[in-house]
Amino acid sequence: MKKYGIILCTALLALCACEKKATKFQYTVDKFYDLEILRYDVPGFDELSLQQKQLVYYLSEAALQGRDILFDQNGRYNLRIRRALESLYTNYPYSREAEEFKAFERYLKRVWFSNGIHHHYSEDKFLPEFSQEWFVAACEQAGVEYDAAILPVMFDPNVMPKRTNQAAGQDLVATSAGNYYGEGVTQAEAEAWYDAHKDNSPEPKWIGLNSQLVKNEKGEIEERVYKVGGLYGPALEKVVYWLKKAYEVAEDDEQKLAIEKMIAFNETGDLRLFNEYCIAWVRDLNSRVDYVNGFTETYSDPLGITGTWESMVNFKDLEATKRTQLISNNAQWFEDNSPTAKAYKKEEVKGVTAKVITAAMLAGDCYPATPIGINLPNASWIRKEYGSKSVTIDNLMHAYNEAAKGNGFNEEFMIDDEIRELYNQYGAMCGDLHTDLHECVGHGSGKLMPGVGKDALKEHASTIEEARADLFGLYYLGDPKLVELGLLPNMDAYKAGYYQQMMNGAMTQLVRIEEGKDIEEAHMRNRQLIANWVLANVDPKQPEVEIIERDGKHYLRVNDYEGLRTLYGQLLAIIQGITSEGDYETAKDFVEAYAVRVNPDLHREILERYKGLNLAPYKGFVNPVYKVKTNKDGQITDVKLDFTEGYIEQHLRYSRDYSNLPDVN
Ligand code: ZN
Repeated sequence: MKKYGIILCTALLALCACEKKATKFQYTVDKFYDLEILRYDVPGFDELSLQQKQLVYYLSEAALQGRDILFDQNGRYNLRIRRALESLYTNYPYSREAEEFKAFERYLKRVWFSNGIHHHYSEDKFLPEFSQEWFVAACEQAGVEYDAAILPVMFDPNVMPKRTNQAAGQDLVATSAGNYYGEGVTQAEAEAWYDAHKDNSPEPKWIGLNSQLVKNEKGEIEERVYKVGGLYGPALEKVVYWLKKAYEVAEDDEQKLAIEKMIAFNETGDLRLFNEYCIAWVRDLNSRVDYVNGFTETYSDPLGITGTWESMVNFKDLEATKRTQLISNNAQWFEDNSPTAKAYKKEEVKGVTAKVITAAMLAGDCYPATPIGINLPNASWIRKEYGSKSVTIDNLMHAYNEAAKGNGFNEEFMIDDEIRELYNQYGAMCGDLHTDLHECVGHGSGKLMPGVGKDALKEHASTIEEARADLFGLYYLGDPKLVELGLLPNMDAYKAGYYQQMMNGAMTQLVRIEEGKDIEEAHMRNRQLIANWVLANVDPKQPEVEIIERDGKHYLRVNDYEGLRTLYGQLLAIIQGITSEGDYETAKDFVEAYAVRVNPDLHREILERYKGLNLAPYKGFVNPVYKVKTNKDGQITDVKLDFTEGYIEQHLRYSRDYSNLPDVN
């Protein structure tokens, strides 16, 4: 599993329900199926200089102009389907209160959320809850024209059932609905093509990162490159138009160079320029405003080659970045004082300065569902030679936390008022700090013994590595050093983080697992590994932490926080040993014993209690609206943000103003 790229969930975030200061900002916007739509605030935007505001605005336009690309990448019928649905939605002449229209509206909202007809997370096709007959008749009555080919794609469960098929033993290309390969292309043909075009230069290009493979009339494989004048040209042309405006107001030469390379890459599709862009982008460290814009992550291509279009515009959160700087500056102290064996410590350790950013616009594969961190570029040779940027996105985390306030989660699962109060006060703070420790010093700590390869732990590498970074963070969360550094106010605060980790790892994260299934995702495995190992290794006479039953419900109880910290430290030493020695057998034993399997009775109970709360497991966002003020000469004098637009209004507006691609590409 890839460690870089967009970070979908880190550390303590999962389903936490912490509270920060109450504000009047309306965080919750809409809820349907398993999805909840939130709004995020953009604190600090008004304090940016006019030039920086313009830069954010231009980059935001460049972000929105690519919207149609993702719909088409996710499936070749998606644009046709979305437009037919929107047209019917806008022109429907009858009552909007009728059951079938409501079902139709929910379906459209879901299509917008998924940027297509497959669930954004499970990748399974979701079916309408209205009939094909109703849809056909309604379109006729509303005068909506559509391509009849969309009907089986929408309504037949056997047509294009999976967006990205990863099931071993099948033709992954032919059975995936994603549009990275044209009709009739097989996995063997695609792989043969990539093989024949492999690039073995010392600075490798990402063959196929920005293209679709199709079969021509002669049955040969052809590459269609995403570029101005090529595939997705009309959208990329608009992206380039706004990037050029951004170039004019860029903050310094470094940033100018990066934008220039990105423009040239979009214009030519030449992947060498993409490499040059990545290098320039990584070197651009001083600008306040930053962005991702382009074909980036490769998870959605069943062969993991072609990038999915995404964009995120952001600016540095100066206050929070100071916090990660402080942690990073103390990296050597953390390394020297950790409970791991001396032989496994780095003599000289460098902390990573994780930047904390404020998201200002989300688009493509970052919208509406979005990552909470970014770690780019993905090319390992660029990371090695030029470094990388790792950021966490504070305002999105804050929105999740605010929206979770009072949703009943902590009332249901936390054992008593005392821990709830502690959590309300310090939970968010601990979550932020734990993430910072995990990212800034956790991953970078420790060393491998001579001769141990980086992939010695094979399929368990991600789980063990995430556990190592998490434990490093947990161990230090309870260290007086953090109070001394001013990062925590007192020696009670860390307890909120400890309780949350144990409750989440041993119990509540199971709400994301279907009944009867095991845990697969590396972060979730690592969290359960830690919690279950601790529970299995407590003092049997006086358990430091335990799960108790009360009125038929199970709760986590911590009896001794200092003792819990000692256990975290012991496990950290073991996990560091496994990593440093490349001890595959022990890694496998640990993962199998603690990380994968789920107690079926506890799982069923947790799912039932969670269901009773009626919460949506997946969240996404609406963006703010950028309102530009100009003088009589048309020059921008200010940019203001508006936070009142609803979910439906936003998507209808985007479809009206940023519809850059034809139905068939
Ligand atoms: Zn990590």
